[in-house]
Amino acid sequence: MRPDLTVLCDQHQRPMKLSVVFIENTPSGQNWNEVYVCGDCGRQYHPQFGYFQLEGFRIKEAGQSRHDCPRHAGQALYLRSRTGQGQDWVCLEEGCAGGTGAINAPVALP
Ligand SMILES: [Zn+2]
Ligand SMILES: [Zn+2]
Repeated sequence: MRPDLTVLCDQHQRPMKLSVVFIENTPSGQNWNEVYVCGDCGRQYHPQFGYFQLEGFRIKEAGQSRHDCPRHAGQALYLRSRTGQGQDWVCLEEGCAGGTGAINAPVALP
């Protein structure tokens, strides 16, 4: 995870903090994960899961607010900035231009 990035909470549009949290139900089976956490609402972001909320140590509502990078399969974009025009969702991968730009269309939930 890159500490130089500004990852915004998709609910508050406030910068999130890099942290390490224990998650019981990740697809990879890995329990300790580096994630970005919102200091206001506790919402978290991980490039594999997108934005999510923890209930106990489990991810609930996985897949919500998720935009996938068109170039990296399974890589969820994060919210970099928000303007009057819309939201700017970008990919975490270094040098990837995938997803740059405003995405205003609603995302279909799985
Ligand atoms: Zn928040
Ligand atoms: Zn990408």
